[in-house]
Amino acid sequence: MSKHQFKIAVLPGDGIGPEIMSACIEVLHRLLADQPRFSLAYLPGPGGAQHYADTGVALPDATMRTCEEADAILFGSMGLPHIRYPDGTEVNPQLGLRKDFDLYAGVRPIRAIPGVPSVLSDPRAAQIDFVLIREQSEGLFYGRLYPEHQPAANDQEAFDLGRITRKGSERLFDFAFSMARQRRAANPAKGRVTCVDKANVLNSMAFFHKIYWERATLNPDIVADHCYVDAMALNLVKRPWDYDVVPTENQFGDILSDLAAGLIGGLGMSPSGDIGDKYGLFQPSHGTAPDIAGQGKANPTAMILSAAMMLDWLGEKHGMPEAKAEAARLSRAVDAAFAPARLLSCELGGKDGTAAITNAIINALARESALA
Ligand code: ATP
Repeated sequence: MSKHQFKIAVLPGDGIGPEIMSACIEVLHRLLADQPRFSLAYLPGPGGAQHYADTGVALPDATMRTCEEADAILFGSMGLPHIRYPDGTEVNPQLGLRKDFDLYAGVRPIRAIPGVPSVLSDPRAAQIDFVLIREQSEGLFYGRLYPEHQPAANDQEAFDLGRITRKGSERLFDFAFSMARQRRAANPAKGRVTCVDKANVLNSMAFFHKIYWERATLNPDIVADHCYVDAMALNLVKRPWDYDVVPTENQFGDILSDLAAGLIGGLGMSPSGDIGDKYGLFQPSHGTAPDIAGQGKANPTAMILSAAMMLDWLGEKHGMPEAKAEAARLSRAVDAAFAPARLLSCELGGKDGTAAITNAIINALARESALA
C-alpha cells in the first residue's frame, strides 16, 4: 500500500506562536518517524500582526491559498496588543479564517491531564472531561465578522450586532449531538448535551434555545439539557465533572472556554479545533501571550494536543484509522508525560517551559515505543 501524504498549512503567527509551533512539529516528527501508512508535508504560511505591521497585510493571498489547498491548517496564535488596525481593533486574522473557511464549530476539549494540579481541591477534578463547542460564524461576533451590516458608531454610541440564524444553530447542535454519540461510543458514561444560552433575557438566545430543543427531539438517544450562561459559569467551577458536550453562542464560548481552561491547568493545556464541513484549523485556545514570548516559558501542550485533534480529524475525514491511532498515541504520551516528570508550567507557578515539557512528551513517546 502506498504512503499517503497529508499537506498541512503551518501558520505559527505572533508572540509565543512560533515557539510552541516548532515544539509541536518536533513532536510530530518523532511521533510519525516510523509511520508506514502516511506522512505530513508542512507548508509554511506567513501572517499575523507583525506581518501586518511590516507589510500592511495580516494574511497574504499566498497564505490563504496554502490554507485552501492544504488538508488541514495548524495554527499557532496571531495578534499583538500594540499592533492595531486604524479603527483601534486588534489584528486577529483567525476571525477572518473562521469566516472565509466557514469554521463554524470551535471544539474545545477540557480534559484533566494526570499529574497536572487543578485549582479545584475536590478529587473529582481529576475526572473533568467535557467539550465546549463554540459557535463561530455569527452570535455576538457577527458585526465584527460582517462590519458592513453593523450600525455605524459615533461619538455618543456604539453597537455590536448579534445575529442567530436557524441554519447556524441547527448545524451547531447537530455537530454537538453527533459528537456526544461518538463520545458515548468510546465511553458509555458519556452522551449528554447541555446547551448554554441566555434565553430568559435575549430574543436571539430564545431563538437559539428553541432550535436546540427542536434538534434534541430529533436526537432522542442523547440526553439533552440546558443551562443559562450565568449559572453555567458557577457550575463549571462547582461541578465541571458533570458535563459532556456543551454547545454555546460565540461570545459565551469565548469567555467560558478561558474559564474552563483554568480548571485543567491554564490556557497552555487547552487545545482547540475550528471545524467546518470542509476545512479544519487546529490551534491552542490561548492567544499570543506577549508577556512570556521569547523566554522559553510557554507551555506547548495545548498546541501539541491540537495537533492530535488534527490527526484524529484527518483520520475520520479520510477513512484512515492509522491517523486516528497516532492521534490517540500522542494524547496518551501527553497523559504519560506530566506525572513522572513532575512538570509544572509557569501558569501554575512552576519553572517547566517549552523545552522541558516537549522533552517529557517525546520521552513518553519513546517509552511507549519501547514497550510496543
Ligand atoms: P486572546 O485575546 O488573543 O485570546 P488573551 O488575552 O486570552 O489572548 P493570552 O495570550 O491567551 O491572552 O494569555 C493570557 C495569559 O495566559 C497570559 O498571562 C499568558 O502568559 C498565559 N498563557 C497563555 N498561553 C500560555 C502558554 N501556552 N503557556 C504559558 N502561559 C500561557
